[in-house]
Amino acid sequence: MSTLEATANPVADVTAWLEEHWDPDLTVAEWWERLGTAGWSAPTLPTNAFGRGLSRSDAVAVQRAIGDFGALGPPSGLGLLLAAPTIATHGTQEQIDRYVLDIVTGQRAWCQLFSEPGAGSDLAGLTTRAVRDGDEWIVNGQKVWTSLGQTADLGMLIARTNPDAPKHQGITWFAIDMHQPGVELRPLVEMTGHAMFNEVFMTDARVPNDAVIGDLNAGWAAANTTLQHERAGLGAGGGTGGVGGATPGTVAGQLDLRAGDLVPQRSTGTKTKAGPARTSGASMLTELARGLGKHTDPLIRQDLVRMHTLDTVGRLNAQRLKATRAAGGDIRGMANISKLMMSDTVRLGRDLGLRLLGPAGTLHGYTREQRAALDEATGNPVLGIVTGTALYAQAPPIYGGTDQIQRNIIGERVLGLPKEPNNDKTTPFSELPKNQ
Ligand SMILES: Cc1cc2nc3c(=O)[nH]c(=O)nc-3n(C[C@H](O)[C@H](O)[C@H](O)COP(=O)(O)OP(=O)(O)OC[C@H]3O[C@@H](n4cnc5c(N)ncnc54)[C@H](O)[C@@H]3O)c2cc1C
Repeated sequence: MSTLEATANPVADVTAWLEEHWDPDLTVAEWWERLGTAGWSAPTLPTNAFGRGLSRSDAVAVQRAIGDFGALGPPSGLGLLLAAPTIATHGTQEQIDRYVLDIVTGQRAWCQLFSEPGAGSDLAGLTTRAVRDGDEWIVNGQKVWTSLGQTADLGMLIARTNPDAPKHQGITWFAIDMHQPGVELRPLVEMTGHAMFNEVFMTDARVPNDAVIGDLNAGWAAANTTLQHERAGLGAGGGTGGVGGATPGTVAGQLDLRAGDLVPQRSTGTKTKAGPARTSGASMLTELARGLGKHTDPLIRQDLVRMHTLDTVGRLNAQRLKATRAAGGDIRGMANISKLMMSDTVRLGRDLGLRLLGPAGTLHGYTREQRAALDEATGNPVLGIVTGTALYAQAPPIYGGTDQIQRNIIGERVLGLPKEPNNDKTTPFSELPKNQ
């Protein structure tokens, strides 16, 4: 176990550290080894989990400082964003050393095996089973919408380990090896033209008992930690990580490349959970409106201001949360509110962007070549960003819990409104009515 030091001046400290350690001629693997073991890959993690115990907003500042310095950022993906904080919270120290070190150094990539064909919003209704067999568990079932499953080495799996307990109480969180005969992936192509998702079929797949994270049948608490980080991270546009210039893991094939060659060009976009670059919103669309001579249209101006307002309120909310936490408090529901605001911003960006483009908004390049041809034909490289964002805009209001589910959570857990009446919490899962 390595315990890192907390830091009082994160941006100054990381910049000084970069002066000494950044070398563009290192391989990606060598660079991430330095960055991760120094606690700068995921600085929100606690100091016993290869982090520096920073707040989310300080971690965003650190990430920006790494970009400003011109160094390669931390590994992208769901390992850093979701698996690491979940294991840091619920795992043993031995599990933290085993799994989190490989995440912060980019050696292993992760995917999230939560949703199933019959269990998305009602995640606790999942039917994938894990049955104990000596020192192992045997897993059978199907997951779906598994982002980045193609490049994952390990999966955050939640499976039912006690069907006779009420549904929230019979679930366990496992770290499953994706490279085994019992795990089969089938990519799903979305309307963006990308195949980001997969169906994952598990047939007698195996997980060792020491890969149970948290207590047996207590996986709902661990899953909620994962979801909480997903909502907060997505609402903040990344936060602990998940936004980097290169893809981790043994499958993506980037570990042996020269680190300096993967430093992203400075741009106005940020990567989202697994989707394409998201435009920076108001400022980019304002420039587009100016370029098209539509910035004097009062309705366009009104929406540009709405967009700017949403961006600003989001930033102020993050600062308010930071100040409240620094004083030992919390603002309940802020992660849910942040995610709802992100959905609003993305929808408004889609509608406004397409309105600005007019008929040209029906053109979209699905491949790199098509995109280049379109840029040349229209002379407007922003067009592809706007249409790409518009096609992807349906996703943020769904992933990480739909808008309706965020509102339910705020209503029930923050405002104390009565829950929908049902006996789900007390009836054994095996006795609940099911679709199939
Ligand atoms: C881009 C993207 C990436 C994703 N990545 C992953 C991933 O990596 N791993 C993973 O496990 N999953 C992933 N998902 C799946 C995602 O978590 C689910 O799609 C989501 O939880 C909704 O579940 P569902 O699709 O089954 O919809 P359903 O749960 O069937 O919902 C259908 C509709 O009914 C509404 N609804 C359902 N229940 C209620 C209720 N109680 N009250 C009010 N309205 C309700 C919903 O809001 C929705 O509008 C991803 C999804 C997207 C879009």
